[in-house]
Amino acid sequence: MISADVLIIGAGPAGLQAAIHAARKKVSVVLVGKTENSALAGTHIENYLGIPGKADGSEILRVGSGQAEGFGCRMLRENVISAARKDGGFEIMTENDTAIKARAVILATGISRVKLGVPGEKELFGKGVSYCAACDGNFYKGKTVAIIGGETESAASAELMTAYASKVYWVAKDIAASERMIRKAADAGAETVRASAKAIIGEDKVTALELDDGTVLSLDGVFIELGARSSADLAMDLDVMPEMDDSIKVDSSCFTGTDGIYACGDVTGKPWQLAKAVGQGAVAGTSAAEWVRNNVSE
Ligand SMILES: Cc1cc2nc3c(=O)[nH]c(=O)nc-3n(C[C@H](O)[C@H](O)[C@H](O)COP(=O)(O)OP(=O)(O)OC[C@H]3O[C@@H](n4cnc5c(N)ncnc54)[C@H](O)[C@@H]3O)c2cc1C
Repeated sequence: MISADVLIIGAGPAGLQAAIHAARKKVSVVLVGKTENSALAGTHIENYLGIPGKADGSEILRVGSGQAEGFGCRMLRENVISAARKDGGFEIMTENDTAIKARAVILATGISRVKLGVPGEKELFGKGVSYCAACDGNFYKGKTVAIIGGETESAASAELMTAYASKVYWVAKDIAASERMIRKAADAGAETVRASAKAIIGEDKVTALELDDGTVLSLDGVFIELGARSSADLAMDLDVMPEMDDSIKVDSSCFTGTDGIYACGDVTGKPWQLAKAVGQGAVAGTSAAEWVRNNVSE
């Protein structure tokens, strides 16, 4: 059995920054998670303060992991499969049956973006397939793109992309977006196509989108915007009730409202951005360490 004052679940930028700030408060810190599963892995970032150009997301995670370990955080590169309250603290189990006892827990589990499940989606991810128009829109200046999804979020992305791309298709068979957002997307110039995506086509990069009515749209980018599911299930095991969209509500100290449990990063809701993940990570790490120091007797 491993013991920790602060246990962090999630090895993305939020969890790593939380680890750095908690460890520097001289409490024992264990972080469980796989950096390669972070939303940041394999992406390029160009809107993070102080890093000009396209920063390599995987490299940020590699360097950040080293920093966290350098400050004394113990990292277990595996997944948590269960969590429970026990003996006034918490006990979690990993996929390799490692049990960890902790006094405070930080949930930094991010979100999992809902997949479309068509041929070409996986193969061309990062080569013209994206799940975040707000993140990657800038790479499609003057190009032709499609936004897939019928929700308000998709309509907002279609409208946003008209500011970058020369041509925007909004592809949705069933539209559930608000009237206001549908009108805004149309007024901005997005062309609505009432069909479902059948396949994303391309060799090294996306070149076309095939629809279920047989139409083939020639384009450079496909944004899959079907909404997002949070990996907040563990939260319920710890008596933290997620919001309707599965995000976890926190106050300005990243406290969830349940004693000893904090949350940070994408799992707390939008904006899903590196800068916010890092900022909240610093707050959550500090808050959890202070809670351990102030509330738990040796
Ligand atoms: C294609 C793409 C492009 C992007 N571009 C930008 C950009 O340009 N600018 C920007 O600011 N942001 C961008 N983002 C968003 C940014 O990557 C995220 O906001 C950021 O990574 C969120 O950090 P996080 O730590 O909250 O979550 P994540 O980075 O997703 O990390 C979550 C971690 O939790 C782990 N985890 C989940 N469940 C468990 C479990 N049960 N046990 C153990 N570990 C678990 C995951 O494996 C992962 O390690 C982009 C994202 C994508 C996908």
